[in-house]
Amino acid sequence: TTLRVALMGLGSYAARVAEAMQSCKRAKVTGLISGTPSKLQEWGTKYGVPEKSRYNYDNFDRIKDDADIDAVYIITPNAQHRDQAIRVAKAGKHVICEKPMAVNAKEGQEMLDACAEAGVKLLVGYRLHFEPKTLEVIRMRNAGDFGNILFFQGLSGFRIGDPSQWRLDKALAGGGSLMDIGIYAINGARYMVGEDPVWVTAQQTKTDPVKFKEGVDETIQFQLGFPSGAVASCLSTYQMNHLDRFFMTGERGFAELRPATGYGPIQGRTHKGELTQPHAMHQTIQMDEMAGILLDGNTPVVPVDGEEGLKDLKIIDAIYAASETGGRRQLRLSK
Ligand code: NAD
Repeated sequence: TTLRVALMGLGSYAARVAEAMQSCKRAKVTGLISGTPSKLQEWGTKYGVPEKSRYNYDNFDRIKDDADIDAVYIITPNAQHRDQAIRVAKAGKHVICEKPMAVNAKEGQEMLDACAEAGVKLLVGYRLHFEPKTLEVIRMRNAGDFGNILFFQGLSGFRIGDPSQWRLDKALAGGGSLMDIGIYAINGARYMVGEDPVWVTAQQTKTDPVKFKEGVDETIQFQLGFPSGAVASCLSTYQMNHLDRFFMTGERGFAELRPATGYGPIQGRTHKGELTQPHAMHQTIQMDEMAGILLDGNTPVVPVDGEEGLKDLKIIDAIYAASETGGRRQLRLSK
C-alpha cells in the first residue's frame, strides 16, 4: 500500500519534497494545502492532485472527509506548526511536521497530546535519520568500532540573506539560527553519540543587532554533556558560511561527516576509511520509510516521532535559557 500525503505550505522546501516524492515507491502526493490559489492550480496540475483534494488554510479541516489522504506534511514557518498540527490531528490524519517541530517544548507537548488524543501518529521530517552514511556511522558505533564516545563537534551554519524573510522574524521563526540550522547539530549530537544530554551550557554572540532583532539569535555556541561523560561542542550561526560538519571521536576511532546535513551527497570517513554508501535523495528515502512507519508500524533505527522532536525542543529551550545567564542547565529528557 501507498502512503497518500497532502503537502501543507507550498514553499521552497515543499517543492523539494514534492519532486523527491516522484521517485518514491510507497508515498505519493495526493493533496495540497496553500493560501495561494495559483499555486494550488499549478502544483495540482503538475502532481496530478484533483481539485477536490486542494485546500486552503481556512477550509483544510475538511480533509477529515477526504478518503484519499492518510497524512499531512506540514512545511510552513515554524511558529505555525503547532496550530496546524493540532487541526490535522483533529481531522483524523497522521501528522508529518518539519523541523523544528514547534517553537518551544510547551507547544511541542501540546502537539503530542493532540495526536495521542486523536489516535494519529506524529512524525518529524528528520531526513538524515534515514541517510545511509549516517546510518553506517551509527552501526559502527553500536558495534563498538569507536570504543567509548568521548567528544562530538557539530558545526551548523550559513550566512542568511534577505533581512525581510520569515526566518528572521521571531513571530514566525520562534528564534534565529538555533531553530533553523543549529537544530541539526543538536539532533546530530544525539544520533551520533547515541545518548540524550543531561546538561547544557551556551554563549550567544550578536554582531548585527539590526538584522538579528530581539529574540532572533545570530550565533550561539553550546555544549552538551551526556550521561557516559561524552561532551559535545557545537556552533549554530546565521553569519558564517561553509559550516556543515560533524566530528566524533572515541577511545578507539573517529567519524567525520562533511557535509553532514546538506541535501547533496553526505560525505565522510572514519579511522577505517571513506564511507562509500550510495547517495539517494534524502526526501525520497524519508517518505518511503515514513510510509513503512505509518502504514506497517515499522520502527526506524533512529526515531523520527514526536517524542524525538520534543527532546530537541527541550534542548533548544535550555540552550536559550543558558545563553541568557551563562549558567549550566540540567536536562531530563527521558521519562
Ligand atoms: P519557505 O519560505 O520557502 O516556504 C514557506 C511556505 O509557507 C511558503 O509557501 C509560504 O507561502 C507559506 N506561508 C504561509 N504563511 C506564511 C507566513 N505568514 N509567512 C511566510 N510564509 C508563509 O520556507 P521553507 O524553507 O520551505 O521552510 C518551511 C519549513 O520547512 C520550516 O519549518 C523549515 O524549518 C523547514 N525546512 C526543513 C528542511 C529540511 O531539510 N528538513 C529544509 C528547509 C526547510
